[in-house]
Parts: sequence; C-alpha cells; structure tokens
Amino acid sequence: MRAVVIDRPAPIERSPLREIEKPLPNPRDFEILVRVVACGVCRTDLHLAEGDLPPKHAGIVPGHEIVGVVERLGAQSRRFRAGDRVGIAWLRETDGTCKYCRSGRENLCPNARFTGWDFDGGYAEYAVVREDFAYALPSRIDDEHAAPLLCAGIIGYRAIKRAEVVPGATVGLYGFGGSAHLALQVLKYWDCRVFVMSRGGIHREFAEELGADWIGDAMQAPPAPLDAAILFAPAGELVPPALRALDRGGIAAVAGIYLSPIPSLDYERDLFYERELRSVTANTRADGEEFLNIAGEIPIKTATVAMRLDEANRALAMLKHDELRGAAVLHVE
Ligand SMILES: [Zn+2]
Ligand SMILES: [Zn+2]
Repeated sequence: MRAVVIDRPAPIERSPLREIEKPLPNPRDFEILVRVVACGVCRTDLHLAEGDLPPKHAGIVPGHEIVGVVERLGAQSRRFRAGDRVGIAWLRETDGTCKYCRSGRENLCPNARFTGWDFDGGYAEYAVVREDFAYALPSRIDDEHAAPLLCAGIIGYRAIKRAEVVPGATVGLYGFGGSAHLALQVLKYWDCRVFVMSRGGIHREFAEELGADWIGDAMQAPPAPLDAAILFAPAGELVPPALRALDRGGIAAVAGIYLSPIPSLDYERDLFYERELRSVTANTRADGEEFLNIAGEIPIKTATVAMRLDEANRALAMLKHDELRGAAVLHVE
C-alpha cells in the first residue's frame, strides 16, 4: 500500500514526509482493517514532522483523523461489519486496568498509546485499529467533513468540558483555526456568548460567519468577563491575558498538546478569586462519542481544504504558515 512516513523530523520547509510502499497491515484478533478514504491534517502531525514531539519510532505513518471503511475483521472482531464507515482518532489503546482507566479517565492512562505516534496512522491507504477504539460516525456528515471532527473536534469538546462550560456561559476562544471553529459551533448550539481572540484577517471573517459575538485582539480585554477561556493557539504568552480576562471562578483550559513557555504569572492579578488554569490531555472515548453525537445533531459545519495524500508536506507547511481556511484533509483514493 501507499503510505507517507516521517524518517527524520526536520523543518517542514525541508519536506520531512516521504511516500513509500508498505505491506498491508494485518488485523489482529480484536482489530479491524480500515481502508482509509480521508485523513485530516492536525497540528500534532506538524509537531511530529518537525520533532517538537519526537516520533516513537522512525518511519512512523502520521495521521489520526481517519475516516474509512471496514475492509476486513480480525478473528475475534464482532462490533462492525465489512463495509461499515468508521473513524479512528488519536487515542489508539489504553490498558483498561489502571486507576485512571477504572475511574473514567482513560485519557490519563500511563499505558495509553496513540495513532500516528506509537502506531501507524492514516496518511496511508489502510490502517488497523482495535474495534473498541473505533468510532461510528454521524451519517449527516460526509467523509471529508467528518475527518477533522476526530481530533480537532473531539479535543475542542474535551477543552469545553475541562473549562466546565454550561449553556449560556460567556466563553473566550484564543486562536481560531481547525479546532476552534468546531468548538464555536457547539458553544453557539448551547446559546453561549462567544468572543474570539484572533490575529489574522481570514480567521476573523470566518469566526464572524459562524456566529462569534465579538472578535478582537488577545491582548485586549473582551467586552465582558469570561466564565471560561479556551486556548487553541500554541502560544504560552496568551495565558496571562486569558487569565486576566476571566471572571471570578473562571477557568482557562489549554487545548493544545504543545505550548510555548508561559511567561511568569502574578498571583493576585492572574489567579486570585479562584481563577484556574487547566491542561487538556487527549480525550476519553466517551468524550469522542458525545461530541460526534452533538456534531451530528447540529449538524456541525467543517471548513476543509481537500488535498491529496502526496501533498502532505505542503498541507503541513500551509498549516504552519497559517494559510489554511479550515482543516486540510488528505484524500486517499
Ligand atoms: Zn489505564
Ligand atoms: Zn490531532
């Protein structure tokens, strides 16, 4: 099969991804073999390609927003049938036995392993996954538009939950790209007031189209104190202004897997009155299922830019340089 791999991380301008031929993976007992139709391009893939997040082994196939069709079942697989449409996301497996797994926090499992980091992902014609870690997808959303839901969407939703957003709340989104545009739609579906802090011209227009109540600069105070702030930009310097924008008892959640250093905080100015700063680490399968249900109910609109598998380097370079209006999705056929 055709697959795109990272041999040695390097700046994306030097095209560290390379297309090769790989043997077709074989589904083990409880796994399914999925023919990849589309795979979304996530910022984590860029961090892997450039080495900010070191790949677990050389020659890894990145990609963890996989939409495909079940091609073949492992010997013990019962959950799906050949021909079913499924999604594969970042969380690829957990041990199911540790204290985190047993208390509904499998996203914190120390033995968790990840698609496109520990195991080959979806920048390829086929991928395998444990059937209990695959997702059924909302039928109202087509393959290309479903792909970004599987990481950008689920992580945004996890961040909304970590920030304890309730319907009608006032929420600030810092940075506006692939994940934030999906989170914004969930928040508007819940009648929240949403302020978007974003630099770029195209991002501002896009936020407006999707119903943002105010769009401004991150360093500026928003029009009202925030019950919750969600940081989507991987920029630690946004943490202090986001904390200062919070109302008493407000929560700021950092949605990214990677964040540049946070400048020093002032306890009284930035944290007092029980304002909180929280991280977001992957997601549980329950988060994923809840989000995909809501996405189907809305139904959520996903802005995508269709590209081909052999354009993976270009897609990641465009992501890095903020040239995408929406999420790049690689078509694998
Ligand atoms: Zn565990
Ligand atoms: Zn991702």
